[in-house]
Amino acid sequence: MKIYSFHKGGYASNSYAVCDDDMKVCFAVDPALTPAEMRAAVPSLSEIKGVLLTHGHFDHILSLASYVSEDIPVYIHPNDMDMLTDGYKNASSLVSITPITAYGASVNEVLDGQKIAIGDEKITVMHTPGHTAGSVCYLADSFVITGDTVFAFGDRGRTDLYSGNEAEIYRSVERILALDGELTVYSGHGPKTKITDERKYY
Ligand SMILES: [Zn+2]
Repeated sequence: MKIYSFHKGGYASNSYAVCDDDMKVCFAVDPALTPAEMRAAVPSLSEIKGVLLTHGHFDHILSLASYVSEDIPVYIHPNDMDMLTDGYKNASSLVSITPITAYGASVNEVLDGQKIAIGDEKITVMHTPGHTAGSVCYLADSFVITGDTVFAFGDRGRTDLYSGNEAEIYRSVERILALDGELTVYSGHGPKTKITDERKYY
């Protein structure tokens, strides 16, 4: 499995493409790039199987509407589903008069422990609430995508927005830091890190 990082959009959020080893099939993660931009960035790509969302905040769904218009399915935890169409719940009403939304998505609910196949490998969903009630991480063999739950340098996501919960994010961070120390951590903002490096801060 291969992962590409993209840094685009005015809100400093990271988005990713998780691809099979031949780089033909991928999932977009928290997309700021449109499908056309994704295909241009990864020329070998023949199929974008879906969009994996770590949570529903607006800065993680910036280009989601362009995937929905191509009927590319969206994967999100049920607790964050409302955020796709609610500018208050997804916090876009804090920064924009025009809410950032994606109506009409073909939604697949992701739940803790669920496996998502890509090529011959699988990604495992971890439900890690706290930043939002429906925050999830996507765990692969060599990396974990943590959204706004774990950042580099011992930081974690804010819990003062809709459905945030400080006690829950501590439990979720503990669970993530108990994973294999050699995993690379790709978070929603800032640089990548490693589980073993993040343990030093707790
Ligand atoms: Zn967020």
